[in-house]
Amino acid sequence: MANKKTRREFIYNTGLAALSVPLLSSIQQRSSSTKNNKTMNKEKLGIAIVGLGGYGGGQLAPALLKTTNCYLAGIVTGTPSKIPTFKEKYNIPDKNIYNYENFATIKDNPDIDIIYIALPNHLHKEYTIKAFEAGKHVICEKPMAITVEDSMAMMAAAKKAKKLFSIGYRLHYDAYNLEAVRLVKEKVYGEVKSIETVFSIMPNKGEWRLNKKIAGGGPLMDVGIYCMQAVCYLLGTEPVAVTAQTFPVTDKEKFIDIEETIDFQMEMPGGIVGKCRSSYSEAQCFLQVNCEQGWFRLEPAYYYGGIKFTSSDDRKFEVPRFSQQGAQMDAMALAVKQNKASKTPGEMGVRDMKIIEAIYEAMNSGKRISI
Ligand code: NAD
Repeated sequence: MANKKTRREFIYNTGLAALSVPLLSSIQQRSSSTKNNKTMNKEKLGIAIVGLGGYGGGQLAPALLKTTNCYLAGIVTGTPSKIPTFKEKYNIPDKNIYNYENFATIKDNPDIDIIYIALPNHLHKEYTIKAFEAGKHVICEKPMAITVEDSMAMMAAAKKAKKLFSIGYRLHYDAYNLEAVRLVKEKVYGEVKSIETVFSIMPNKGEWRLNKKIAGGGPLMDVGIYCMQAVCYLLGTEPVAVTAQTFPVTDKEKFIDIEETIDFQMEMPGGIVGKCRSSYSEAQCFLQVNCEQGWFRLEPAYYYGGIKFTSSDDRKFEVPRFSQQGAQMDAMALAVKQNKASKTPGEMGVRDMKIIEAIYEAMNSGKRISI
């Protein structure tokens, strides 16, 4: 245990990229053995988005109009009616438009360097593995998978393909969350005493998010994951144990087999507790960090934009609007070009799936679960 702690602290203190996953240095993925000079020499790498829904089509694609290291080179969609709009807006040639039946042939397309999986959660495993089998680098949306087992199979596919694997954790590229990490790391308000964070949204009846088979779980999998991540990246470490509570559902038709609300506590090394909450029947989003000499808060903390910083000493922190998704995809493209590890690698996704599974175990058993 003592060794484990020392190692964690050592890695945190070495100043790896602000939000890097603990133990990243030992799990860096390298694509050197398949170094592809053609890819490395391209000015902009081509990304193909799989799934043009709210996030893929509504957020990722527009962000790629402003990126410097990558562009939207292709799309994979099962809805032909979406094609004309995307073709025109993003200038995508017919040869770079795929459906789910001919997806495997993307392996022969040199325009596509990175495949971005923006499908509902239960399809992440299948399409991530197919993308690696096609010899491409992959970004997969959060949550990485619906089970730990699936996430490990995805990781194995990445290793076999010797390609870079990144999870769509956009907040690791967000100026406000990065500033929060800096404040903690540099102890600007002294040692952290506690962290409180909530991310709750209100999906409509019928959305796949409410279906356990597709989503893998309830708000914890969808938005609570941001709270869990924040506690980890703020402290640069991972929990030693978790506890969790849920409450009777208010709408039995809407919440059939998922939690409506979950409170969970992350016991971090050094005795700090991250108090987290996530719900599908309230709308709230904040991160409050209480330290020995003051506090600071982001509210909203995890939205695409409009994040606001406040603190006990009225510190000002404001940056011009920027795209988290653009920054995230540019960073991935640069990592591929420079043959470096992703800041949010597949291993981080596996780690998080294990923590999520432990939180659900704690919720269902009422017990404290060690990790
Ligand atoms: P969505 O329902 O809006 O879009 C899903 C897309 O997948 C649609 O285009 C749909 O047609 C397509 N699809 C293909 N096969 C499907 C099938 N069998 N069943 C259902 N849809 C199918 O969902 P979304 O909000 O875009 O979420 C997609 C992924 O992105 C999820 O994993 C979600 O967690 C993630 N997401 C991430 C963020 C973020 O901020 N990082 C935000 C929203 C969503």
